[in-house]
Order: sequence, then structure tokens, then C-alpha cells
Amino acid sequence: MVNPDSFLKLDMKKSLFILLVIFIGSFGLCQGSFTPPILEGKPNKIVKTLQGITFNSDYDNGSLKDVVDLGPDEYRCDLYTEQGEIGPRQFWFRFKMSGVSGRNIKLHINHRHNPFPVISLDGVNWRRLHEREAPSLSEIILNFFPWENHAELALFFPLGVEETYSRVNHLVRRCDDATSRILGKSFCGRDLWMITVEDASSANTQKFRIWLQSRVHAGEVPSTHAMLGFLDLITSDTREALLLRRHCVFNIVPLVNVDGVYMGLSRWDSRGIDPEHIWGNPERTSETLLIKYQIDEFMASDNPIRVSLNLHSTVSNNKDTFFFKHVAPSVTEEFELIQQGYIDALDNATPLFDNLCPHSSQLHPFNYLESYFWSNWGKEVMAITHEGHFYRRLPDGKWITDEDYRKLGSAMAVALIEYFKLYYKNP
Ligand SMILES: [Zn+2]
Repeated sequence: MVNPDSFLKLDMKKSLFILLVIFIGSFGLCQGSFTPPILEGKPNKIVKTLQGITFNSDYDNGSLKDVVDLGPDEYRCDLYTEQGEIGPRQFWFRFKMSGVSGRNIKLHINHRHNPFPVISLDGVNWRRLHEREAPSLSEIILNFFPWENHAELALFFPLGVEETYSRVNHLVRRCDDATSRILGKSFCGRDLWMITVEDASSANTQKFRIWLQSRVHAGEVPSTHAMLGFLDLITSDTREALLLRRHCVFNIVPLVNVDGVYMGLSRWDSRGIDPEHIWGNPERTSETLLIKYQIDEFMASDNPIRVSLNLHSTVSNNKDTFFFKHVAPSVTEEFELIQQGYIDALDNATPLFDNLCPHSSQLHPFNYLESYFWSNWGKEVMAITHEGHFYRRLPDGKWITDEDYRKLGSAMAVALIEYFKLYYKNP
């Protein structure tokens, strides 16, 4: 696993306090009625050879429950169904095949949430399958040249834990204004990273603090591509980036559900808990508690959080990505306008977003991160969730890609210039 080594700055006293709170919290959780379903084994991490082809999902972010021989060059690939306290979920898959040289193979696999999954022949470059390769939502047909012996399939352009942290590390290291630190450990002991980006040479007062997190739900990888695009923009040397770094402090958690991502899950965490809606009891997962502790510290500082972007992705077919705008009476009408201000700013910042699928919601009083901000700090924090999808993009109707999400993420950063009217401030 990649480490942020020299950037690590953990305060020992704070770490001990957090560990104590997590210990107390997990003690309470052990007394609950919900049975942890997954840690007993690795049901979606298999290595199986059939007809000379080895199917392997036993690695970071891999997931396949089983593969069954259906006759010459024909296989049934079963997706893993994860159990959670809100119910079962099943959509993520990612696995490698070796021994495919010169073969024409047919896979029966459920990819109904994405008509055209992705393939890589080198483990680095990915592309969507063509229509002849994915003729239906339950079939994939692949013809390999003799020199192609390895292939990897996934539901959508995948990013495992190490792949994500490696890309984040690359962006942090290229920018003198960026640092990373480990907030603490996940339930399974993985590092929970937070990146900070700001121009430390400019005066520290009157800065807008931005909180951004991705991948609360493990299979929602578009959110991590958007996060990378956001980080790419704010760590660049562009005029926009310099302006943003001068007036803002950015805090980014690249992977909230870091265990679920490693395990190749679709949605829940390693114990079947939904980390998205436990903000009424944040001690239920160490990840949520660590984030809450950090947010509390920022909110008590001279530069409290002013914008919180919670990046997700949905499996439903939408013609545009969208925000869940919270509406009255759960929030004030004034706060509706504040949220709309950011939504409009993103619309102005990119042709990839036109707010064609506006969603609204009555904000639950305490379940969500946005609830936590609203109930404690009201309109002072514009906290909102963004949802990507696996379907077609704006403005040309082509199938959306990882690169599109990175561009969208960059635009989310640029939109802050309009939202905060930074053009009107002195440089
Ligand atoms: Zn989600």
C-alpha cells in the first residue's frame, strides 16, 4: 500500500483520543443485532481455472463470486451479492482472465446497470466494450488475438485502493501547496487519507474551507474519478488553481469506504453498514467517526468549512449527473438558493453538466453528513451530494468515461470561483 510517508503528521494525543472513542463505539456495535456478514471469508475473491483460462478476482477491488463451465469457450460468471443492514446489493464486478490468447469466449454475466462495461489488456488502459462485445445486458463476447493472453473486465473504469492512493500521491507530490496525512485506520486497518491544499504563504484569515469526499459507497467509482479531477485542477499551475489556492483551503478524503473498495463491494462497508446514513451515530464506523472528529476541528477553527461536496454515483439511467438539493421545509428557502448558486456555477463551468435531472430531497434531521452540517451550522455550510452514473454524457450523448468524470471534477473546483465571487477579490 502506498504511504504518504514524509507528509504524515499525526498528533499522538489526538490519535489516542480517537482510538479510545472508536474502541468504545465498536464495543456498542458488537452488542447490536446485525451480524457482520463478510469478514469471515472472502467470498468474492476467487482464482479458478476452466478450459485453460484462469479467472482471478483475488486482488485489490476485485470481485467475482464464481465462474461456471458451460461448454467450449462459454462461461457463466456470477456476481457477488453483498448483504447489508439495509438489504442486499449486487452490481460491482472486476476480474482478470489469463490464457485467453486466440480464444473467442462468451461470458454470461449480469451487467444490467451498465450496458457497456470496460476492458483492459494491460491493466492500465481501459475502454468501454463495443456493441458486438456486449450484445445484451447479460452477455459479453470477446475475441482475442494470439498475442493477447491477458484481459481484465470491470463494470466501470475501476480504481482500487492502491490505484487511487497512487494517483492522489502523484498529484500531491507535484504541488508545493499540497500535503497528505492519515486521519486514522479503517475498521479493517487500512489508512484513511486526507489531502490538504492551500497557498500557505497567503494570509490565513478569511479563507473559504472546502470539504470534499468520495466513495462512501464502494462501487461508485465515478465519484473517485471526479475527486481526482478536482484534485488535479487545484494542484495545477493554472490561473484558476492559483486563485483558488490563495482564497481557499481544500480538505479531500479520497476514499471514505476504503475497506469496501478493497473488498470489491458494490455499496456497504466491510460489515454491511451503510456509512452514508449513520451520522446520527457516527461512532458506528471508525471511518465516519474520524471524519466527524476532523470536521468538528475545522468548524471550530478560524477557517471553518463553507462548502461540503459529497461525491456519489447512482446505478439508474440518467441523462445528466445531478445534485440532491435539499428543500424547504427541511431547510430554509434561503438555503435552497445558496445550493442553487453552486449548482448554477457548475452548469456555467462545464458543458458536461446542464442540471437536466434536478433532484430534491427533504433533508433528514440527522442521518447524513449534510444533516450534520445543517443541524449544527445551518446555512453557514453549503453541503450537498452529487451523483454520477454509468450512462451517456452531455453534451454529445456518447457513453460517459473516466476522463469525463475527471473533467467534471475539475469543473466542480472552477465553479467555486463563481460561487465565492473570487474574481472580485484582490489577488
Ligand atoms: Zn452512494
